[in-house]
Amino acid sequence: VHLRFLPDMEESVTRRFALLNELRLAQELGQLVLLYQPIIELRTRAVVGAEALVYWDHPRHGRITPATFIPVAEEHGLIESLGEWVLDEAVRQSATWRARGLQPLRLAVNVSCAQFRDASRLRGAVDRVLRRHGYPAHELELEITERQIMRDPQSSVDTMLALSDLGVAMALDDFGTGYSSLSHLREFPLRKLKIDRSFTDQIDRDPGGLAIVRAVVELGRNLGMQVVAEGVEREAQVAPLLACDCAQVQGFLFGAPMSAADFERRLLRPALA
Ligand code: C2E
Ligand code: MG
Ligand code: MG
Repeated sequence: VHLRFLPDMEESVTRRFALLNELRLAQELGQLVLLYQPIIELRTRAVVGAEALVYWDHPRHGRITPATFIPVAEEHGLIESLGEWVLDEAVRQSATWRARGLQPLRLAVNVSCAQFRDASRLRGAVDRVLRRHGYPAHELELEITERQIMRDPQSSVDTMLALSDLGVAMALDDFGTGYSSLSHLREFPLRKLKIDRSFTDQIDRDPGGLAIVRAVVELGRNLGMQVVAEGVEREAQVAPLLACDCAQVQGFLFGAPMSAADFERRLLRPALA
């Protein structure tokens, strides 16, 4: 066991270091790409929004998922600049869809807690991007994970208020995994709760999962928030979600994250086809 342990450790440290150095350059080398995942109104199955997700097209390793490199970017102070690029590119893309008369969409962009900590920089960046592309603030939604805001709830409230002031909406991502106390939830100016896929996962098989989704939908309604169920993969999950009155969903069943060109084709397709 020990003989294997050491070389593996060494390899992963070396690889992590190499990845970090390449990641520092990825943005200026144009290796970052945004994919868009449709957000669906469940009753009609119409596309009502798009979540932008950043991927890294690595010259040797191929397309790398954000779950791998976002934590590295956060840890090494790269996320502020990366996040500002994402925001600008996503809003630019969505503004061209609007200008071409495609159906109006809510655009969701993920932000990380390092961006959230510096309220004035984030507010400034969002304001600049909206002006640059002439994009309506109320159609932009910033997603932050529940885990991340709970690191510093009070400063998160302040940042959310600064953003709400611009007209931008907030969504709480991965809800149910970050131990937020309900008293905090009430203080956050949120438009949306996104139920983590771990709860949606077994909704058609496990009564516990169903009970949690039902409770969160109810909670959201009473707090005046919209609720989205993440990670819907199977048709069998649809009926229980409709029965819970969950209005919006996202997941592979309705579309995996896709290129801007594919998303555009998806927009032109009739809703129930
Ligand atoms: P997230 O914001 O919760 O995004 C949803 C993740 O779930 C995406 O993973 C998506 O591909 C995946 N997903 C969607 N539908 C399904 C499904 O039906 N089944 C399963 N198994 N998975 C599904 P992805 O693209 O790997 O992104 C991972 C996380 O990385 C995101 O989670 C988000 O927190 C973070 N992230 C992505 N882009 C950005 C960004 O631009 N900035 C920041 N700060 N974080 C980002
Ligand atoms: Mg998200
Ligand atoms: Mg999520």
